[in-house]
Amino acid sequence: LLEAAGIRKVFGKLTALDGAALSVGENEFHGLIGPNGSGKSTLMKCIAGAEVPTTGKVSFVNTDITAFTPTERARAGMSLKFQITSVLPSLTLYDNILLALQAQSSLVDLVFSRTRGLLHDQVMTMLTQFRLADRAFEAAAALSHGQQQWLEIAMALAGKPKLLLLDEPTGGMSLEERRVTGELLQPIKQHCSLVIVEHDLDFIRDICDRLTVLDQGRVLASGTVAEIQANKAVQEIYLRRA
Ligand code: ATP
Ligand code: MG
Repeated sequence: LLEAAGIRKVFGKLTALDGAALSVGENEFHGLIGPNGSGKSTLMKCIAGAEVPTTGKVSFVNTDITAFTPTERARAGMSLKFQITSVLPSLTLYDNILLALQAQSSLVDLVFSRTRGLLHDQVMTMLTQFRLADRAFEAAAALSHGQQQWLEIAMALAGKPKLLLLDEPTGGMSLEERRVTGELLQPIKQHCSLVIVEHDLDFIRDICDRLTVLDQGRVLASGTVAEIQANKAVQEIYLRRA
């Protein structure tokens, strides 16, 4: 589904990515891990088009999208949620989802959905899936931090993407909220792949099929969760941190 290869990203004198790569299959949950500053967010941005790689190539659904704008990537089926919030706090949860749906649907789908009365059903389905339906008509500002993150994930999924990119979605969440987040993400595997950046290794181990470990802008290892857990070089960088 996604192939990023030879990704180099230079900021002035600093080389944030030095030939990084990432390969994600269909219906795969892929974890991107590594120490602070290893280039995880930069790689996510290069995939989503928020940063332009200095060199390298990104393919998505067998198409070279290296020169695509973020909007063109979204249209091709890529959706991202970053650390920066996209929820409009004064609007209701319902309106936030509705806006996301409108932004991510084609005009034809939208008119069809509206005339068939499907738009309301779609909004409520998303809210139900993320356990927020009972609060649909409250302002988003009234939600807990964790619930706001779930709302953002629901918004990112509104356009039915093929690939969802999440950069530290559980940052600032309680243990219980993290556990629920894992549960909420599981069903999307039926129609969507996931690349997720996380510092919580237990969380990532539980939900991911494969992992890629970045260290100083390079891929240290990539493989199944079991392979990565058994990898000596990976164990060493995590021991170094502890
Ligand atoms: P963290 O785990 O702390 O989120 P990360 O793995 O996401 O770290 P990046 O944010 O990708 O790391 O940063 C990689 C390196 O690139 C860091 O040294 C960072 O300071 C640098 N960097 C990132 N974005 C920029 C930018 N826009 N301008 C200059 N340097 C940047
Ligand atoms: Mg980061």
